[in-house]
Amino acid sequence: QHAVPHATLDKLAARAAAGAAPERITNHIDHASYREQGGYRLLRACAAGEHEVEDVIGKLEASCLRGLGGAGFPAGRKWRIVRAEPGPRLMAINIDEGEPGTFKDRVYLERDPHRFLEGALIAAWAVGIEAIYIYLRDEYHACRAMLEEELDKLRADPPTPGMPQIVLRRGAGAYICGEESAMIESIEGKRGMPRLRPPYVAQSGLFGRPTLEHNFETLHWVREILEKGGDWFAGHGRHGRRGLRSFSVSGRVREPGVKLAPAGITIRELIDEYCGGMQEGHSFYGYLPGGASGGILPASMSGIPLDFDTLQPYGCFIGSAAVVVLSSHDSARKAALNTLRFFQDESCGQCTPCRAGTAKAVALMEQPQWDTELLADLSQVMRDASICGLGQAAPNPFDCVIKYFPHELVQP
Ligand code: SF4
Repeated sequence: QHAVPHATLDKLAARAAAGAAPERITNHIDHASYREQGGYRLLRACAAGEHEVEDVIGKLEASCLRGLGGAGFPAGRKWRIVRAEPGPRLMAINIDEGEPGTFKDRVYLERDPHRFLEGALIAAWAVGIEAIYIYLRDEYHACRAMLEEELDKLRADPPTPGMPQIVLRRGAGAYICGEESAMIESIEGKRGMPRLRPPYVAQSGLFGRPTLEHNFETLHWVREILEKGGDWFAGHGRHGRRGLRSFSVSGRVREPGVKLAPAGITIRELIDEYCGGMQEGHSFYGYLPGGASGGILPASMSGIPLDFDTLQPYGCFIGSAAVVVLSSHDSARKAALNTLRFFQDESCGQCTPCRAGTAKAVALMEQPQWDTELLADLSQVMRDASICGLGQAAPNPFDCVIKYFPHELVQP
């Protein structure tokens, strides 16, 4: 679990052999520029008693900001829950960003690292946090170098007296370490394996202490929401949904990338209004609304609002909003097999339904004709008996192919 991923080593070795300098991020908003633009003023005002904790949490609740790593738990409520636990309390920030197709955190981090740091420090002030642990994806080595530099500047010139200690930890390329309790195990120096709950991380997380665990992007929005008001964030949204979502769009669209769009936008609207339509020669065939684990839907179901809770009735979920667009050149069956191979590789192996189930699913999906009855049985067992979300959601892709792409069940 803690080995440096081969891809990273290969890339670094290739760069070193070519005599290339290590990648560097230089066009971000650095500490001095962030402060010039009013950065850390809000944090200082909080620490000086110009804002009440209750008002700050109230604004966050009014904004309807939810955990943007995938779970969608209301951020304000989480602050309240951890605050009510006995101290000392800790914070863990997840920038592992391992869901295939997700790259939004990296884009924001590379541009504006102090925005999420200020969000984290405001959360620390409101909740009463003693130390902050940042867990950064190992493949983001340029981000790490930049973040280390910016953290040094922050420590040398802290915005408030008694700023909590901030510790930057490297991930090691394991997908499962994006799961909050596995991440905590990994930060503690152990093998990254999900814990059984209860107790929940909010009660007993990092080093057994109550822990506020947040995805990077959730904290990225804190400053702007507090400055502009909860209604500003909640005022966005379409089709009855509220807030903004950063969609990482990839696949057969003309303009892929991170698209900041209203929560509840449909895939058709997202493709047409934000991605310049489909690529030349490609017609819309289907989409993965939430990375590898969020299932696969056909083009005929392009009117569903994309948000937390809206996709569950269809056996899918939005997760971290990694949208992969498939065209008539693609196959849902191949995409599903690809994701199951990934899950087989990334299963931490501690429970049999997931460890053996993902391997069994791959073997069944490699057959020219899928045994849908056996796959349905397997899906039920994995959902019912896996410890964590990896094993519980791994059947989504093949269940979706069986339900929505029946014409692909027999290999042509
Ligand atoms: Fe590990 Fe899979 Fe079980 Fe999760 S479901 S604990 S990844 S074996």
